[in-house]
Amino acid sequence: MITLQAYAKINLSLDVVGRLENGYHLVRMIMQTIGICDELSFERTDGEIRITANDGDLPLGEDNLIYRAAVMIRDRFHTGGVSVHLEKRIPVAAGMAGGSTDAACTLKAMNQLYDLRLSEEELRELGVKLGADVPYCIMGGTALSEGIGEVLTPIAPMPDCFLLVAKPEINVSTKYVYEQLDSHEIPLHPDVDGMRRAIEEKDIRGMARLLGNVLQMVTVERYPIVEELKQVMLEQGALGSLMSGSGPSTFGIFDDEEKAKAAAERIKALGLAKQVFVTRPVDIR
Ligand code: ATP
Repeated sequence: MITLQAYAKINLSLDVVGRLENGYHLVRMIMQTIGICDELSFERTDGEIRITANDGDLPLGEDNLIYRAAVMIRDRFHTGGVSVHLEKRIPVAAGMAGGSTDAACTLKAMNQLYDLRLSEEELRELGVKLGADVPYCIMGGTALSEGIGEVLTPIAPMPDCFLLVAKPEINVSTKYVYEQLDSHEIPLHPDVDGMRRAIEEKDIRGMARLLGNVLQMVTVERYPIVEELKQVMLEQGALGSLMSGSGPSTFGIFDDEEKAKAAAERIKALGLAKQVFVTRPVDIR
């Protein structure tokens, strides 16, 4: 049996720069692994794929990305199957790549379990067939993600800090957010290259100023709670705050752990979110 951790991500910068005919969007995003993770345990089976989980609401069959990743490996490389137990800790449908990171973890685990000796690049090429964020989740750390998410450039680890992450009690569909974006003019694109420079210069204040996500505008329009969360984080001393991915998870960057914890308590007391975490960036590469 092997047990692996599957880490969540946040987006420090997220821009959409085009749309392909098949509906996929061309993105430019700065991704960062954070210290919130699922734990997955894997065991070989004769051919069957079985998933159990601590979260009763998740689909455990073909709709689970773990299942689809396992089928892909089994059928392509003629291996046996796998029995997986998932301890879900990453908020679901939150903009934190919870499903994608489990899929990435499953590809890595099957590679080990069946001694397939696939390189990270080969795993990433398989991963993009499961979802645009899967290649990044295989790589991890701090990275620029372009194309539909398959063109990855590792960048220097972001400076250490405290990250407050809050997930309000609403589920936001990524598909809905991108559809809304298509029917809007984009008034302001985030400065993705500026963010990359700020990270490389270890300029946390510069980073906090440059946080930007083009999807925030459409999510906030329907779910104003995202804006409320950002305001509370800033009032409580965050250097900057942003929605992650298509939301609704929102994070704040703090240089002081006590301030981050006080902000977490304030958010809970105001009833803005139940799932609230104080964590840090993780450099897993
Ligand atoms: P992203 O940031 O990549 O857009 P997300 O965090 O918004 O992802 P997920 O948590 O991946 O969204 O979940 C989206 C949907 O995918 C859920 O409604 C869930 O039913 C389904 N799903 C399938 N497999 C998983 C999994 N292993 N973990 C979580 N959700 C999964």
